[in-house]
Amino acid sequence: MEKKNVWECYDEKQLEELEVHAKEYMDFLDNGKTERECVDFIVNRIEKEGYRELQALMKEKKALKKGDKVYAVWMNKSVVMFQMGEKPMCEGMNILGAHIDSPRLDVKQNPMYEEGGFAYLDTHYYGGVKKYQWVTIPLAIHGVIIKKDGTCVEVNIGDKEDDPVFFVSDLLIHLATEQLEKKASKVIEGEALDIIIGNKPLSIGKNKEDGKESKESGKDAVKKGVLAILKESYDIEEEDFISAELEVVPAGKAKEAGFDRSMILAYGQDDRVCAFSSLKAMLEIGEVERTACCILVDKEEIGSVGATGMESKFFENMVAEVMNLAGEYSELNVRRCLASSCMLSSDVSSAFDPSFASSFDKKNVAYLGNGMVFNKFTGARGKSGSNDANAEYLGHIRSIFAKEKVHFQTAELGKVDLGGGGTIAYILALYGMNVIDSGVAVLNMHAPWEATSKADVYEAKRGYVAFLENASM
Ligand code: MN
Ligand code: MN
Repeated sequence: MEKKNVWECYDEKQLEELEVHAKEYMDFLDNGKTERECVDFIVNRIEKEGYRELQALMKEKKALKKGDKVYAVWMNKSVVMFQMGEKPMCEGMNILGAHIDSPRLDVKQNPMYEEGGFAYLDTHYYGGVKKYQWVTIPLAIHGVIIKKDGTCVEVNIGDKEDDPVFFVSDLLIHLATEQLEKKASKVIEGEALDIIIGNKPLSIGKNKEDGKESKESGKDAVKKGVLAILKESYDIEEEDFISAELEVVPAGKAKEAGFDRSMILAYGQDDRVCAFSSLKAMLEIGEVERTACCILVDKEEIGSVGATGMESKFFENMVAEVMNLAGEYSELNVRRCLASSCMLSSDVSSAFDPSFASSFDKKNVAYLGNGMVFNKFTGARGKSGSNDANAEYLGHIRSIFAKEKVHFQTAELGKVDLGGGGTIAYILALYGMNVIDSGVAVLNMHAPWEATSKADVYEAKRGYVAFLENASM
C-alpha cells in the first residue's frame, strides 16, 4: 500500500485554509500550556459561537432542541460540548475525544529550599519524560495558588517577552566523565529536576550614608529574597504552595519549522493538536443528524485517573443531564445512547524517525505529512492494554473518508516488542460503542519541543468534520 505526502494533493484554496488552521492552532498552543488554560481558551471561543453552559440551561429548565449548543466544564480542567442533532440522542452520538494535559514538571507542596546560594523549587515530573531533556532549557511556570481564604492567584511567568525564565542545571561537560557513563534514565534523576528560581539575597534597606542597598546574609537569605518577591507580586506566603498547582513547562512560543515552514515545533502538541482540531471541527460542522459531541479531558498522561480524567463519571453524568434537557432521559436511554455512539478517540501517534529507523515497522508507522492517522489498536507486546477497533467500524470510517476525500494513514506506535502507550479509547469502549484511536503523527513525542506537520493537523480537522457529519453505525 502506497504512502503519500499529502502536500502534493492540495489546491491553492486548501493551502490557504491549512495555513489559517495552523496559525490558529499555534495561537492555541501559546495560550494553552496547562489544562486549565486550555479550558479557559476553549470556553471563551465556544461561547462566542453560541455555546451555552449546561448549568445555566438547567436552571432555566431549557428544553434542548436540534441545533442547540451546550457545554460543561469539570473542575476547570475538562470540558465536554454537544451540538444537538436531528435524531434522538438514544440513537447514538458522534463523539470526538482528546486530552489537554501534557508531560511537565509539577511543583511539590513543600517545594522551596536554598542550597549553595541558589533558591530552588522542588518538582515531581508528570507523565512520561526523558528527564535529561528538561535540563538547561528556559522554563515557565503556569498555574494557580489557592489561598486559605479561597482566593485564586493565577501564575503565568516565563512566556511574556520581558518575563524572567527558570531552569534546571546540568553538570559541565569538563567534569562529566562519570555522569556520561550512566544509563540515560539515570543521567538526570527525578529528584535532580529542581528548578533554580533565584540567586540574590533579600534586600533589607538602603544605607543612609552611601544610599547603597544592603542585603541580608546568612542562612536562606536568597530564599527569603525570593519569598519577598512572591509576597509582593502575588501576595502569597511559603505555606500557600500547599494548595497550589504550578506546572513547569518549556518557555517560548510555538514555531514554524523548516525552510519550507511545513512543520510546527512546540510544547504540548500531545495531545493539544487533536484537542484543537476536534474543537475546530465542532465549530465548523453544519446541522447534524446525530448529536455531535467533543470531550477534552485531563490526566491522560498519568492513566486517565481522578475526577477530571476520562475514567471519571463526569462524561456519563453530563450526557444524562443533556438527555434530560432534551426530554429523553431514562437510565436505559443513557445506556442506549452511549452503546450506539461512534467515537474517534484522538491522540498523537509516533511519526517515523529515520534517525531511529530500527524502532519502527516501516510498513505500519505514521509518516509526517501523510495525513490523519488511524491506529486500529494501541498497546504493546500482544496488544496488551489496547482498544482494538472492530473491522466493520474501520470499514465504515474508510467509506466516509473516501467520500469526503480525507487523506489518512494507518499505523502502530512502533515495533511489536518495543513498548507502547495507552489512550482514552478503551474507557469509552466499555459502553460498547465503536471506538477507534486516531490522530496526528508527532516527531519526538513527549520531548519539551514536539514536531508535527501542518498538513496532518489540517487533515485531522477535515477528518473530524467528515466523521461528525457522516458517521452512523
Ligand atoms: Mn497523548
Ligand atoms: Mn502522551
